[in-house]
Amino acid sequence: MEMGTTNTVMWFRRDLRIGDNPALLAAIEEARENGGAVLPLFILDPALIGGAGSKRLAYLSDSLRALDESLLGNLHVMVGDQVDVLKAIIEKHSITSIHISAEFERYGVERDARVESAGIKLIRTGSPYAVAPGRVVKPSDGTPYKVYTPFYKNWREHGWRNPAISPATSEIPLLKPDAGDRNFPQWEVPSGCEISEAGEKAALKRFKYFQENLLDNYDESRNFAGVDGTSRMSAHLKWGEIHPRTLLQPLGSSKAHDVFRKEIAWREFYADVLFNNPRTEYEYYAPQFANMHYDKPGKKYKAWCEGKTGFPFVDAAMRQLLTEGWMHNRTRMVVASFLVKDLHLEWQLGEKFFREHLVDFDLASNIHGWQWTAGCGTDASPYYRIFNPIEQGKRFDPDGDYIRKYVPELAHLNAPDIHEPWSVLDGYLHDYPAQIVNHATERLESLARLQEIKVQKVEYPDPNA
Ligand SMILES: Cc1cc2nc3c(=O)[nH]c(=O)nc-3n(C[C@H](O)[C@H](O)[C@H](O)COP(=O)(O)OP(=O)(O)OC[C@H]3O[C@@H](n4cnc5c(N)ncnc54)[C@H](O)[C@@H]3O)c2cc1C
Repeated sequence: MEMGTTNTVMWFRRDLRIGDNPALLAAIEEARENGGAVLPLFILDPALIGGAGSKRLAYLSDSLRALDESLLGNLHVMVGDQVDVLKAIIEKHSITSIHISAEFERYGVERDARVESAGIKLIRTGSPYAVAPGRVVKPSDGTPYKVYTPFYKNWREHGWRNPAISPATSEIPLLKPDAGDRNFPQWEVPSGCEISEAGEKAALKRFKYFQENLLDNYDESRNFAGVDGTSRMSAHLKWGEIHPRTLLQPLGSSKAHDVFRKEIAWREFYADVLFNNPRTEYEYYAPQFANMHYDKPGKKYKAWCEGKTGFPFVDAAMRQLLTEGWMHNRTRMVVASFLVKDLHLEWQLGEKFFREHLVDFDLASNIHGWQWTAGCGTDASPYYRIFNPIEQGKRFDPDGDYIRKYVPELAHLNAPDIHEPWSVLDGYLHDYPAQIVNHATERLESLARLQEIKVQKVEYPDPNA
């Protein structure tokens, strides 16, 4: 680019894609108007990196490489405090403005506010959601929704824009990085683990496969843990390698399509709930549950973390998490229920463990997925629903394929024995651990503890009070 022109920055954060990216389009437009170029930037944020586990970091590393490839090797990857990095770039490259997509989670909001208060101009275009958190409110009084179903109805009525056009990368005026601007992290997938492929191209390819082969049966197959029946879009959405609008656009009115749309809406609902109730990042959404009697984590918690509880469906799921950084939604619910209602531990412990291990970790979905299952979240029929980990396995892994894949100690068993190794002579042939608790006993214990806090009706405090 010639000297004397002014340039813009596209600061990528949770939107690691070129297509359907309104903030990038805004950056390109402004740069073109000024006869300048776009500097594509990612800043490695030590605060966020510190909390992420090795599988998620490896995924991020791959995703940055994929974004760089799409940007023809022009991604600037800088390490350091955001204000310092941005100030240096602004000065060096005659930058007029920094383009971003809006953030709604506490950390991102505070980071952007800090950048702005240092005198750096941020221009927000778009967000990681079809409908930004805070937009869908009750028409009667303008307050946020606390329950999913009416939120969903209003969210659909509100609607969303069509995907934005995708610029041809060869036509984007891009600022070339210097050698010192290419600080790509070298995070490797831990040995023995295998994570899904990262990047926009992988996201679009998988979504196409899902659309052509799986979507029409999604309403049925999505529940079976051993079946490839879901979209596997969660990590792509987490990093913004694909936008939810792109997933919503091709959906029709069949039951299967509707169920898929409703799942996307759960992500948006939880983002909205967290946005309106930031305290729920750590606290009980229904505060009465903080008074319940919980146990302290010890050996049983360790067994849960390692996938050695002696409950085959739970153990398969935890080992899937440990090796793949992903877990099927059905088993996320089963292991969460097990931690809270069979082991009587607080949901925050499990949330933290998932946070460390999930490649698709999403603050709002994780926190409220946990709270929903624990019975203190956004659910109308909460605590009494206690998943039976054995029956869930029989129902949602009828052939035992899921267990066989992740629990080699049980691979010699056929269904239904694989779900109850204690009922057959050779069940413990390969040192599979004995059950750490008795589910029937712990179920009653759980209900007794609920009785102690006398929850008749779950009350949610007014977020605006
Ligand atoms: C305890 C618990 C913790 C969870 N933690 C996370 C998390 O950290 N990150 C995350 O993305 N999802 C989380 N979920 C939700 C859900 O399990 C995953 O989104 C889903 O399994 C991802 O697989 P998929 O992309 O194939 O989903 P699909 O079934 O194909 O669904 C499509 C998309 O809809 C959204 N979605 C589906 N189910 C849910 C749900 N119950 N809540 C919110 N969004 C949903 C996701 O964005 C998902 O990618 C959690 C659920 C529970 C019960």
